[in-house]
Amino acid sequence: MKYAHLGPEGHVVLSDRDPPTAGPGEVTVALAACGVCGTDLEKVRGNYRTAGILGHEPVGRIASLGAGVENLAIGDRVFVHHHVPCYDCPVCARGDYTFCPTYSRTNLDPGGFAETFRVPKENVDRGAVLPLAPSVDWDAGALLEPAGCALTAIRRVGLPEGATVFILGLGPVGLLYARLVRALGAGWVGGSEIAPPRRSAAERGGIDVTVDPREAGSIAGAVERATGGQGVDLAVVATGHPSVVRSATEIVRRGGTVNLFGLPESGSRLDADLQSIYLRGIRLVPTYATTEPDIAEVHRRVADGTLRISDLVSHRVPLERIGEAFRLAGRPEESVKVVVTGPAA
Ligand SMILES: [Zn+2]
Ligand SMILES: [Zn+2]
Repeated sequence: MKYAHLGPEGHVVLSDRDPPTAGPGEVTVALAACGVCGTDLEKVRGNYRTAGILGHEPVGRIASLGAGVENLAIGDRVFVHHHVPCYDCPVCARGDYTFCPTYSRTNLDPGGFAETFRVPKENVDRGAVLPLAPSVDWDAGALLEPAGCALTAIRRVGLPEGATVFILGLGPVGLLYARLVRALGAGWVGGSEIAPPRRSAAERGGIDVTVDPREAGSIAGAVERATGGQGVDLAVVATGHPSVVRSATEIVRRGGTVNLFGLPESGSRLDADLQSIYLRGIRLVPTYATTEPDIAEVHRRVADGTLRISDLVSHRVPLERIGEAFRLAGRPEESVKVVVTGPAA
C-alpha cells in the first residue's frame, strides 16, 4: 500500500509498504480523507520537531478488527483521533488532558496519510474511534480534529455570554474557531486575514467583520468600532507569527484574554509590553490539541446541523498526489482546507 511520511530532507515522500494488521484490541482503517494541518506543513518545513508522523485528521472505514474489539464493525465510517491522554497521571487528574506527558506518544501507524492505518489498542480503548453519523460527510469528518481543538481552546479560555471575539489569522482552524464561538453565543466576531479565499470563507459564516491586516490600523479600527473603544473580551492568535501576539494583547479589553492557539514558530520570543499586560490584567492562555469529549461534542453539532463546516474544504487531492496537496495547503492565497483522499472515499 501507499503511505506518506517525512523524507530525510524534510520533504513529504510517498512510499510502499505492507498494510498494517490489527493486533488484539486494535483496528485498521481504510482512508477516506485526511486534512493537511498547519502542523504537518511546519514538520515538512523543519519548524516542528516531533516523531515526524504526518496526518492526524483522518476519516475512513474500518477495514479489520483485532481480537476483543467490541462496538465497531468492518465497514463502519469513523473518525480516528491520533493522540489520547492516559487519564491516570497528576496532569490528567486536574483535567489538563491534552498536556498529559504521554498524550503525544500515542499515534497512528504509519500516520493518517496512508491507504490503511492501524489504530493502537490504547486509542481504541479510550474512545478515539468515533463512528460518524450518516449526516456527517467525509469533508466535515476530516475537520473534526481541528474543530475539536477550537472547542477545547474555547472551554479552557471561557466564553462569556455575548462575548466580543477577534481572531487573528483565518486559516482553517481560525475559521472553525469563528464558527464555534458564533454557535456558542458570541455577540460579535471579527477576524483578520491576508488571503482572499479565506476572507471569503469567513464571510460565508461566523464572522461579522473581516479585515486585511496589511492595511495599517485595520484591526484596531474594527475592534474600536465594534466595542466602543473597550477592546474585545477574547483575542485569538490563530497563526504562528510572534508579532501577532503583541497585536492581540493590544486589542483586548482590561481583564480580557489572549488565546495562544496557533503553533508558534520554534524558538520565537514574546515581544509585548509586559507592564501594560500586567496593569490591564490580560490573561495569556495557551491551548493545545483536543479530547474525545470535545470531538464528540463538535460531531454532535455537525450531525444536528447547528455547526456547518464542510464548505471549508476547498481542495481534495488523492494520496498519490500528496506533494501537490502540501503545496496547495502552503499557499493560503489559493486554498482554505486541503484534504488528501484515499481508497475508501
Ligand atoms: Zn491538526
Ligand atoms: Zn495523563
